[in-house]
Formats: sequence, structure tokens, C-alpha cells
Amino acid sequence: GELGQEQEGLVIAHYGQQLDIEALEGDEPGRVFRCFVRANIDSLVTGDRVVWRPGKSETGVIVARCERGNLLQRPDNFGALKPVAANIDHIVLVIAPEPEPHDNLIDRYLVASESCDIPAVILLNKTDLINDQNRRQIDTLLSRYEGLGYKVARTSATAGDGKPAPEVEALVRDQTTVFVGQSGVGKSSIIQTLLPDELLRVGAVSESTGKGVHTTTTAKLFHLPAGGDLIDSPGIREFGLWHMTPQEVEYGFREIRPLIGMCKFRNCRHMGDPGCALDAAVEAGTVSRERLKSFHRILQAMAEQQARGLKLT
Ligand code: GDP
Ligand code: ZN
Repeated sequence: GELGQEQEGLVIAHYGQQLDIEALEGDEPGRVFRCFVRANIDSLVTGDRVVWRPGKSETGVIVARCERGNLLQRPDNFGALKPVAANIDHIVLVIAPEPEPHDNLIDRYLVASESCDIPAVILLNKTDLINDQNRRQIDTLLSRYEGLGYKVARTSATAGDGKPAPEVEALVRDQTTVFVGQSGVGKSSIIQTLLPDELLRVGAVSESTGKGVHTTTTAKLFHLPAGGDLIDSPGIREFGLWHMTPQEVEYGFREIRPLIGMCKFRNCRHMGDPGCALDAAVEAGTVSRERLKSFHRILQAMAEQQARGLKLT
């Protein structure tokens, strides 16, 4: 068939062999085309920039993938890394007083973010549930991460009568964001305030087109009315809760990263081994006891998981 000129586009959804490409230039920027991929391009994910050529009636052909700024990946059931989404500006890790953050959960999400080289922001939701019993604990937790250089914000998704909270809008404005965090912390509630209903419906798991129903379990990209993009999928929200190698865990603790290789013994397991640089750093006050404990627990959990050969749930 006849194809139009090569131009740049943005992958906003993925359906098996086809992708939805939003035109970024040409006559109709913003219009969405259902596109096929030339056989010689490796896997494309939501958030990828591509070069494509429009065809007849809102179809097209993707001819190349542009270079990626970063790539959010997760392992499949066999441990092979699979790309999930690309070109993300930050991962917003949502936590709440209720459900209380699992031990290590924050650190595991941060390790995963660090290993993809995507900045992480910690967003405390449900500030309305802060009281005299939990305030100190939450403040201590958040200042620990602020001290490590992570950006921290606080909000309540349900306080604004359905309207987005200014602090969340400020966080996501002009950024490409993914929200992650354990179930029940309020991710859906926050997303609902950011996206109008009609966009949320389009984002539902199945979508009807002239050629039948296409289902997608992969990530979808949404434009936020106030500016910025959101990439979301059930899989992305679980981001980070999988097996990691000891090297990834070492790299993922940003204050421990520069200490690796400084222990007395080259094969130091950093588990109280003699001459461990991590223990010395705790003594010197440059690594917190809590983070070292968490580091140990994650390494231990990973070793057990490895031994069992199971996926951690
Ligand atoms: P998700 O599993 O992370 O997507 O969490 P949901 O958005 O489904 O929220 C879980 C529960 O927390 C729901 O009952 C929400 O109404 C409630 N919730 C969400 N945000 C807030 C908040 O800011 N304050 C309070 N008190 N409850 C909230
Ligand atoms: Zn060591």
C-alpha cells in the first residue's frame, strides 16, 4: 500500500503484534494510529519513541525505534528480563500509614528503581491517617530517605473531593510518571484524581475496535490534563518485587554502592564478616543501622528465594 512520510511517534499502547502510535509531528499531531512493526525491529514498549509511516485509515508501519533514555524492565517467570516501559522520568513509590509499609518494601522498590537508573520519589499518601501514635515513626522514616537524597512528598488522595492535590500535580507536571507501591496504599485513588473518567475507561483492560476486541495487559500511556504523562499497568504497579542478584542489591543501596570493593576480603558477604566496610560505615555514621539491616534482610531473602527456586510473592 501507499505509505506517508517517515515521522516521529510515541508508543502509547501495545496489543500483540500491533501498537498504538501517537503522531508527534506531521499534519495531525496527537492523532493515534494502529501500527504494525517491521520485522527487523526488536521489542517495542509503551513510552518508546519510534519512526513510523502512516498508511490508510489510521494505520501505519513502524520502521525504527529511537534511542531510549531508560527502560523499566522486569523478569518473566523464568528470570529473563523483559522490557515493560521506556523513557520514564521518575517512579513514584506510594506508601501510607495504613497498610503500614512492609519491612524492606521501600528499599526493595528503591533497589529496583536504581537498577533501572530511574529516579524514585517517595509519596506518602493518607496523611489524614497520621496521628500521635504513628507520626514520629513516619517522620523518621521519611527523613531517612530524604537524607539519602530521595525526594519525598505527602498527600491525601481522598481529601480533595476527587480533585487532584496540588502537591501531586506539581510532582507529575511535565514528567513521565509511573506509580508503584503495595496494594491498598492508594495508587488507584491518586490516579483517579489525575485522569478524567473518559481516559480511565479507555485504559480499561479491553478495548473494542472495528476489527474486534483487543485486550492488553501491557502498559498504557495517558496524557494528564494538567501536563505530563502517566504510564500504568497492573504489572508496573508490582514493579520491584522480584528476585535480585546480590550485585543489584549492592548497587541499589546508593550509600552502600561506593563502599563495595572496600572490604578487607574481596569475597566479603557483608554479613558481619571481619573487616567489612559496611560495618565500619555504620560505626562512622555514614550508613544507617536500619538500612544495613534492611540490606542484610534483602540479601538473605534473595538467597533463600534462589535456593527454593521460587518467585517471591
Ligand atoms: P491501591 O491498591 O494502591 O490502588 O489503593 P486504592 O486506591 O484502591 O486505595 C485503597 C483504599 O485506601 C481505598 O479504600 C481508598 O479509598 C483508601 N484511600 C486512598 N487514599 C486515601 C487517603 O488519602 N486517605 C484515606 N483515609 N484513605 C485513602
Ligand atoms: Zn563487606
